[in-house]
Amino acid sequence: MTYKTVTLKRGKEESLERFHPWVFSGAIATADDTIEEGDLVTVYAHDGRLIGNGHSQIGSIAVRMLTFDDTPIDADFFTRRLNDAYKMRQSLGLQRDDNNAYRLVHGEGDFLPGLVVDIYGPTAVMQAHSPGMHFARDIIARALTMLPGVRNVYYKSETTLPYKAHLDPMNDYIIGGMETDEALENGLRFHVDWLKGQKTGFFVDQRENRRLLEQYSRGRKVLNMFCYTGGFSVYALRGGAELVHSVDSSAKAVHLTDDNVALNFAAEDTRHKSFAEDAFKFLDNMEKDAYDLIILDPPAFAKHKSALRNALVGYRRLNAKALEKIAPGSILFTFSCSQAVSKEQFRLAVFSAAAQTRRKVRILHQLTQPADHPINIYHPEGEYLKGLVLYVE
Ligand code: SAH
Repeated sequence: MTYKTVTLKRGKEESLERFHPWVFSGAIATADDTIEEGDLVTVYAHDGRLIGNGHSQIGSIAVRMLTFDDTPIDADFFTRRLNDAYKMRQSLGLQRDDNNAYRLVHGEGDFLPGLVVDIYGPTAVMQAHSPGMHFARDIIARALTMLPGVRNVYYKSETTLPYKAHLDPMNDYIIGGMETDEALENGLRFHVDWLKGQKTGFFVDQRENRRLLEQYSRGRKVLNMFCYTGGFSVYALRGGAELVHSVDSSAKAVHLTDDNVALNFAAEDTRHKSFAEDAFKFLDNMEKDAYDLIILDPPAFAKHKSALRNALVGYRRLNAKALEKIAPGSILFTFSCSQAVSKEQFRLAVFSAAAQTRRKVRILHQLTQPADHPINIYHPEGEYLKGLVLYVE
């Protein structure tokens, strides 16, 4: 494998020496003019010191670093990194008889920028966010099947790769095929639709937060807004909720939720109902005090920094609508998965919603992403999920 060369401007090696894994295009002094997107490159400081190896790409992030030394990026490299990721999940106790759904690789958080892998029983669902990882997909897939229990690798890059016609993104099995679409999370069963669903088919990042919700559900009337696959709904039902209503604007999501409820509870259990409706409309039309536990887990309102202001207004409006109608003595689980919105900004948006509705609100828990979505301490951008559990009088 030949490595192309990139040399940085004076001083631009500093963040890399603190292991931040991105080289921005403005930091580059000279680069081989034969570099193509996805090529392996070796990065040097202005004085010729070797910084490490990475994947090149077009855009403001020009290189994503994979090593901070001269270790080659080959099959052994991926095998070692995937083994490390697997060992870490094992030590977290995520691979158990009653749990086989978890994130195995969380990009920079597992020192593999551009790569995401979620495990659903015998199937690994892999997404490349960079051309370099896309080109390495076969090596990575083979390394994945060397891990205990992984027999199938589904690769899903049509929605994650930067748009470039010549990259030939694909959604297909690289190894194996459909064995089962069922995965277990904390003893609950879920159909996971990696073929057509969002992301890898399931939001494993809410696992611990769903478990917390379960503990608050007994005897409550629960509204699960933005339900997608119904994760929170199923936990609330197991937790002994009196009723659970699930809402999503996508009819397909509502079907997924109904299927997952049916997979876990007998047909005689009639506590659950679902609605294919817009969340804001549903909140406008619902009766006051109808629910005493509400979950708000919307899609990222800010996909980029440029959308931040509107996103904050969106979070405020959404939370205000829920706070206006929620019964006294209620619990509100409210989330933001926008990377561009900080913890503090989100909390301020929720604070504004509380002040606007003049409810007495206290914070019971401050939630974040679980341990299988680790944040590389040198890459704080990896923090994205934030949540508050509120007690509303
Ligand atoms: N809470 C879910 C994940 C939510 S993903 C879980 O635990 O898995 C966000 C969901 O919001 C998607 O299913 C999407 O269809 C839905 N959605 C997006 N805009 C919406 C709107 N305006 N009203 C209702 N649902 C919406």
